[in-house]
Amino acid sequence: MTPFTYRCTDCGREYSREQVRYLCPECGKGYRPGIPLAGVLEAVFDYPRIHDSFRPEAPDWNLFCAVEAEFHPPMAVGNTPLVKVRRLGESLGLPGLWVKNDGLNPSGSLKDRASFLVAAEARRLGERRVVAASTGNAASALAVVCASAGLEALIFVPEKAPKGKLVQMVVAGATVVPVKGTYDDAFRLSLEYTAQRGGLNRNTAYHPLTLEGKKTAGLEIWAQLGFQVPDAVVVSVGDGVILGGVHKAFVDLKRAGLVDRLPRLIGVQAEKSDAIHRYVQTGVYRDAADPSTRADSISVVCPSNAHGARKAVLESKGLTLTVTDDEILDAQGLLARSTGIFTEPAGAAAMAGLVKLQKGEGRLSPDARVVVLATGHGLKDIESPLTRISIPAAVEPRMEAVNR
Ligand SMILES: [Zn+2]
Repeated sequence: MTPFTYRCTDCGREYSREQVRYLCPECGKGYRPGIPLAGVLEAVFDYPRIHDSFRPEAPDWNLFCAVEAEFHPPMAVGNTPLVKVRRLGESLGLPGLWVKNDGLNPSGSLKDRASFLVAAEARRLGERRVVAASTGNAASALAVVCASAGLEALIFVPEKAPKGKLVQMVVAGATVVPVKGTYDDAFRLSLEYTAQRGGLNRNTAYHPLTLEGKKTAGLEIWAQLGFQVPDAVVVSVGDGVILGGVHKAFVDLKRAGLVDRLPRLIGVQAEKSDAIHRYVQTGVYRDAADPSTRADSISVVCPSNAHGARKAVLESKGLTLTVTDDEILDAQGLLARSTGIFTEPAGAAAMAGLVKLQKGEGRLSPDARVVVLATGHGLKDIESPLTRISIPAAVEPRMEAVNR
């Protein structure tokens, strides 16, 4: 852990971690559920100290961490493989293509990284209960990490969350409250709960350490590429916190003088859940009225980190685009068949975006080093691919039947 202060991403005021928990007390004052968060805090570290202490030959990642290692849950998260996918890359005109397979985290998604750090913070603060709203993955992540840390997880999810994710939460001993409504309803209810009943709220971007946890995916990409900055990172976008977290990794590295540039961020949204895409395009924020998509993890009316995600895309000279559910399921199959990586629809959205980009005028340079983030495991939602494939009927156990 390196000493840090929280800085408001809107007004720039600074606070110690003992002074605030969630949003900037000034800018967050006007926040009400149903609008993008205002006053999101970012951790600003003692960068000269990181610069002087970091050694690539023996990297100490705790230097970039906002919670002391003694509070970390015993479960190991992150350190997922970065796979060079040469054949797929060449078919897209990008021989330098990698996939970061974050579906191989303990609960099967990148969200374990955020839950891990917030659970560590709960232990530091002496809180016994961590509360979250989630489309599914963040909640599964919280459930397993809390099980590891000996904490209680209380979870609000839309009742339509995929069964695989709900099962993970319940099996891991979480208290699950399915909500008749959307993710946004669950988000609001979880805030009301912590305001009235206490516990530490893990809602994405609302708790600043969710961004810090997700940052570790970006740090790993840098290390796994031999301490090189990729030219672009392609990320699927719902609330915009993974995108913000990956950006923060490279911002921290740059502030510490360990890299001299940022990768372009390519944010991919589902066609109907496109609030951040439109915000980047027009500069005007509007909700996604009907965010229905097969990619449940990125289905959101009002992305909590809309402002931060837009800022990150612009600062990195990146771009955003949208893809249809058909394109997402095509990309899911393509990725699985050509690399063996089975990612859920939200993870496949990033690959679908890259495929679309390479077919159009905005295609990336053939010598670009590009990383696609596969954010969740395909087994979390088997219903979606089942709309495309069928399981062959059983045969009699005789060779004639097999030959037929
Ligand atoms: Zn502020």
